Amino acid sequence: MPLTGYLIRHVHWPLMERLKENRTRAYLQELRDSQHMERDALLTSQRRKLGKLLQHAVQNVPAYTEFASDFADSADQPERFLQSLPVLTKGQFRAASQQYLTRGADTSRLISNRTGGSTGEPTHFYLDRPTVERYEAARWLGLSWHGIRIGDSSVMIWGSPIELGQQQANCYRIKERWLKNRLMIPAYNLDERRLEHDLGLIRRFRPAYLYGYASALYTLAEMMRQKGTRLRHRLKAVVSTAESLHDYQREAITDAFQAPVVNEYGARDGGIIAYQCPAGRMHAFSENSYLEVVDPVTGHPLPPGQTGQLLVTDLYNYVMPRLRYQLGDIVAFSPESCSCGIQYPLLAQIDGREDDMFVSTRGNYVHGHYFNHIVRNMEGFRTFQIVQHEPHRLTLKLVKDPNRYSHAEETRLLAGIRSVLGEDVFVSVRYVEEIPPAVSGKARYAIREFPLVLTRSQHGND
Ligand SMILES: [Zn+2]
Repeated sequence: MPLTGYLIRHVHWPLMERLKENRTRAYLQELRDSQHMERDALLTSQRRKLGKLLQHAVQNVPAYTEFASDFADSADQPERFLQSLPVLTKGQFRAASQQYLTRGADTSRLISNRTGGSTGEPTHFYLDRPTVERYEAARWLGLSWHGIRIGDSSVMIWGSPIELGQQQANCYRIKERWLKNRLMIPAYNLDERRLEHDLGLIRRFRPAYLYGYASALYTLAEMMRQKGTRLRHRLKAVVSTAESLHDYQREAITDAFQAPVVNEYGARDGGIIAYQCPAGRMHAFSENSYLEVVDPVTGHPLPPGQTGQLLVTDLYNYVMPRLRYQLGDIVAFSPESCSCGIQYPLLAQIDGREDDMFVSTRGNYVHGHYFNHIVRNMEGFRTFQIVQHEPHRLTLKLVKDPNRYSHAEETRLLAGIRSVLGEDVFVSVRYVEEIPPAVSGKARYAIREFPLVLTRSQHGND
């Protein structure tokens, strides 16, 4: 809808800036300017922001005031001081979240947010409006690398606002359609019988880009490929978010939509952290957050190229600073620079959620994607889910393809599981008709039900 896009860019956004003091476009311009700065200048800018945030935290945030005198001793080396602070896990934050709220903050003026509860207890936290606008600006910058402008039309394949009443839902739809130029298709409802209906909606709306969960975009792409059907208009990009984007998913989505697939890396409780550039690399928005990669067990910093736990320090969230927040993702930095010319640092790989990692009886980590890889190379299973209850005890749910199933394949699958998790693991196999996605619409193939990482206290003081 080009006219709606024009109105959003030239009327709605300027009005929001005047009336609501929305500064997203100003923040976007700051990011546009800084993305081509020299590496050293970026590091200096980041260090300055970090120092300011830490100064604020030790003075005004109850959880950090005990570190005030240490900070005074090392104020000129904010990175060193940050590394001396304990890692903040989601559980620790949840248990004492009020301690992280800046003294005197008026919560009635803040944005209350929470993570989904599909993989554990939800985490509640506060953000102020400028922080949210900084996240938005980072997303628009990432999208701009692929020719997408504010106001461009999109179709979002997403969980739906099912909890809204009818009137609220209508209001929401109108706002989505006319103020955001966006159409929603529920991710939990993708189905072969609805395929033509859903594609009809997309074709009539003619979006500039699609945006959705990796698994939902992949499901849609696979259905289209099986039916041999296409969208019939050119998309600027298909943007995948909220889940790891695996190579087989990227290939299927590229093929079905004949458009570049762009990976967005963010988290509800961590903001927009990194975006894929046109050269296919992931650039971290170092002007918005300070990232560290540490050894999952010892908590020691790891050099670029080595994979470990990601810790995020949001440089702008002054109302509820979470320093060294352990997001639960396993990533590595890359020491290289990118051919695209953007100077923001690169993440070499994002191995996905720590939640997707399994532990073998020998104590090493196995990514859930490993099981997916085995099953995808077999004929006899439509889909599966593997749950690790304890290191020695698992449940494997299988949806058989009755025409292709063979016992020999199942034996090979079990052997594959035992070869990485340990020969002595007990696997209870159950055949089911279907594996429904989580309430959020996300499909989960691999679920671990016990904590992955030993905390420092369990390890002594190493
Ligand atoms: Zn790049």
